[in-house]
Amino acid sequence: MEKVSNEIMRKARMLLEFGKVQKDIDTEKRTYYTVEGDSETHSVIYDKIKKEFLCDCKWSTLTNKKCSHMFAVELKGME
Ligand SMILES: [Zn+2]
Repeated sequence: MEKVSNEIMRKARMLLEFGKVQKDIDTEKRTYYTVEGDSETHSVIYDKIKKEFLCDCKWSTLTNKKCSHMFAVELKGME
């Protein structure tokens, strides 16, 4: 597993714990989620073909790294 900062994982667990992660639509190729962040609501997509997460937040767009929203969705999938 890739190395992730504790801060991001902590945030992801909080998002899940407080019910901020919602599964919207599940299609054959993609699953769409909404994650309610601190100031904005983000759309997270899980691409089942590429097995990749996509998020519209600035952090993941700029750094190209997995953000807390993606981890929150991933954790939800493991529930
Ligand atoms: Zn994000």
